[in-house]
Amino acid sequence: MLKRVISSSHRIPKWAVRSIVAVVTVLACGVLETAPWRESGVAAPAVAQVSPVSTRVASLPTPTPTLVVVATKRPTPVPVDDMPAKDVAVVEQEPVGFPPLSTYSESLRPEFQSILPNLSHLTRYDMSVEIFPARRMLKGTAVIALRNNSAMVWPSIVFRLPANHPRLNTDMQLERVVVDGLSVQPVLSPSATVATIPLASPLQPGNWARVEFTWFLGYEHLSDEGAYVRNGANQDMINLPHFYPELAVHAPGAPGTDAMGWWIQEIPQHTDIRFHETVLMTVEAVAPSEYVLVGSGAPVHEETVAHGRKRQQWVTGPVRGFVLQASPLYRVSSKNVDGIRIQSFYHAEDESVALRVLDQAAQALGFFSKTWIPYPYAHLNIVASPLAETAMEYSNLIQMGVMRYRSQPWNTAFLVVHEVAHQWIYLLVHNDPVNHPGLDEGLADLSYVYMMETVDQNFNGVRHLGYWQRLNEDFGSRFPGDSPWWLAHPYHDFRHYHATHYRRPAVLLGEIWAYTGHEAFTDKLRHYMGQYQFRITTPEHLIGVFQGSVPQERLTELEEAIGISAAPGS
Ligand SMILES: [Zn+2]
Repeated sequence: MLKRVISSSHRIPKWAVRSIVAVVTVLACGVLETAPWRESGVAAPAVAQVSPVSTRVASLPTPTPTLVVVATKRPTPVPVDDMPAKDVAVVEQEPVGFPPLSTYSESLRPEFQSILPNLSHLTRYDMSVEIFPARRMLKGTAVIALRNNSAMVWPSIVFRLPANHPRLNTDMQLERVVVDGLSVQPVLSPSATVATIPLASPLQPGNWARVEFTWFLGYEHLSDEGAYVRNGANQDMINLPHFYPELAVHAPGAPGTDAMGWWIQEIPQHTDIRFHETVLMTVEAVAPSEYVLVGSGAPVHEETVAHGRKRQQWVTGPVRGFVLQASPLYRVSSKNVDGIRIQSFYHAEDESVALRVLDQAAQALGFFSKTWIPYPYAHLNIVASPLAETAMEYSNLIQMGVMRYRSQPWNTAFLVVHEVAHQWIYLLVHNDPVNHPGLDEGLADLSYVYMMETVDQNFNGVRHLGYWQRLNEDFGSRFPGDSPWWLAHPYHDFRHYHATHYRRPAVLLGEIWAYTGHEAFTDKLRHYMGQYQFRITTPEHLIGVFQGSVPQERLTELEEAIGISAAPGS
């Protein structure tokens, strides 16, 4: 389809060509989710054969009957749970054995380091991992201090092990779990992606618990250049956004949560995977010296250790988790924007496109940081990754599919702007990626039009949105029956998912942008981001900032669009 469109491009206006290019490139943040080795016919490599790593089937304990997904079709709005205002001002008790809050300041620009005292209630991770590429294995330990910031008493704490998700090419085995000095047997869900940690004494509101994990992660190594490897290794790249147990989001009453309020949602096809409380982290990784290690925090130390290996350390600011990547072939270039160090990690053969992507990211970061609320962090990394032609956003780190660099080197701008916008929309202000995917994807898609309208005088945003609208109508006309195509389940394919959760919300948001005008729309977004940064929002929170300044029927339609869940049966 792309070939046909381009070959006839002399007959359609220039803006339309640009729109078509954008449409083809919007497959960001979630695509090609089937296991690539099955599609390519390449035999599935064995998971690391190093004891005690074993297959997840062999390690499954008895399923717990308490893990029941709450499947409310139209969930009641719930208060944001991760940062209750009443708890922010004073935290009387600091976690024992953790560094002072000032430790995390290196990851923040100097003028934003003063936010840390107000974030003392956040969960803290202190992690140490060692990578063994020859054995396709990682060994990790983590000490996690977490505070019960809710009003509920917790008889147990829930962690997510997304590394065990069938979509990912990794397998995680918990070796040891200790809570406040006592060894604990976690209870795994049937998919082994949810680990419930029972507590000897229930955790009272306002109190801290100390959870220690030791684990092994085996990863598959694929050699197909076009493979999509969200968590695993491909060619020379080790890509591990999900290499550690992640504290589950606690949001009582929200979709996908259990009776105690923990998010135990099964991850369906197409959606993003990470749903993560804002946390503070210190991370240390040991790997063979020839590997270039990339982390999503600020690098603070590197040293050579025994046996041809090196140790590297990072600290983060308030982030949605940590990504670890490694390759012996990465080169790096960097530039500074307003005190933010932007680095691009890439292979030598991709240097020219990687440098252009660095410029595009710098421009987008500067634009959004000035137009919305300031980017508080001191770093942003752009990393060539085994994501085929797609891209993915994480805190302080954007993954760009290495095949995009090689097959469409002229076509990276949309992807870069979309992912940079996610640094605000999904990472500073977070949302459920399964039950409300349109909340962040619609805004991230619109952000490209919103930015281009401002920085490129030849760009016509309204016409661009009109073209997306016609694509939606054309797409919908192919669906028989009376019910709307955006409510049809299951999705026909990723294009159906994309039209539902990316392009349709983007068009509806764009209509509000056009109705209110750029300045008023920007003010509303600033208000939304300022009010909810480091917190988790639902569609109601975004709708709330437009209440009173936009006709109700427009808001009702938008709220329905960004509230559509991607979970089956929802
Ligand atoms: Zn996205």
